[in-house]
Amino acid sequence: MGTFEHADLKAEPGSSGHGVLGEVLLAAGERIAVPFIVVNGVADGPTVVVIAASHGNEIVGTGAAIAFARALEPAQLHGTVVVVPAANPPAVSACSYLSPIDGVNMSGPLYWDADASGSTSQQLGAIVGSVLKRADIVIDVHGNNEPCAPMSMMFLENARDEATREATIALAEAFGVTPVDMSAPTAHPAWLGSSDVYPVPTALAHGIPGLMVELTGARTLDDAPRGRSGLMSVLGSLGMLPGQEVGYKDPQRLAGNFGYWGALSTDVAGLLWVRHPAGVPFTKGTVLVEVTDTYGEVLREIRSPVDGFCWWYPGAPYGQATHAVPAGSTVALLAEVRN
Ligand SMILES: [Zn+2]
Repeated sequence: MGTFEHADLKAEPGSSGHGVLGEVLLAAGERIAVPFIVVNGVADGPTVVVIAASHGNEIVGTGAAIAFARALEPAQLHGTVVVVPAANPPAVSACSYLSPIDGVNMSGPLYWDADASGSTSQQLGAIVGSVLKRADIVIDVHGNNEPCAPMSMMFLENARDEATREATIALAEAFGVTPVDMSAPTAHPAWLGSSDVYPVPTALAHGIPGLMVELTGARTLDDAPRGRSGLMSVLGSLGMLPGQEVGYKDPQRLAGNFGYWGALSTDVAGLLWVRHPAGVPFTKGTVLVEVTDTYGEVLREIRSPVDGFCWWYPGAPYGQATHAVPAGSTVALLAEVRN
């Protein structure tokens, strides 16, 4: 087991520490430092990299990542854990989904081929990407606002090979929340795009198994313990915590196989009334939401086109605000039952 060196940090075997992955210099002279934590074990094993808050308002992931890192005992760990708890620091500070400096979605195609001398977000991507490239496993922790249910996203169609695909399915099983295969959504296959988008599918395309997790209550830390339990369970499944019982099966885990169907949207503006809870299975034809005017008259009744479940009723704009929705708003993200 060797010393883990990265950026300004040197972690001897059996030690942990934190440091700065890199800094971006802004126009007025401020520096944006990207923090990271390393827990280096006492015996050889995989390098697991956990990133959170690439969407800066989803701080539940930050809470999960911190709680996870602090629960690890280097003397009992095989392999190395690297945690980037705030992958998009300016967005975390501004409580915003996108980077407030240049409006970029930092869960985009920025980490593997970023321009280290490019825009602020390109530089941040290169800084975080430097450690993602050292990973054997990548876990990207996100969160949705209520009403939502915990789930994980498997980008299986992006996997470079069968081994990467199988290892990703195993990761999802270990994390313990309901997995959804994001490959080829029935409704609109181009919605998430191809393998050059989010960091996790990009990792899979490079032969690195990975999982993108959606916790609940994005703007709070209340669901952080679920994320910590899932991450500990992943380490257990990889043999990194020998002798410890850390397996986790989420109480809201649904039985069966699910794939991403797509998003439902409303073609009228109004108030969005959720008529079927997130995370509870339904059959085709079930009324999921109604849109009413401000007198309560129903303008639209939106039913599920498939058997499945909804993991998030986003609203406007894209779930970061309220259920007073302009026409065209995304109102439900659906998983459909697959065999
Ligand atoms: Zn997110």
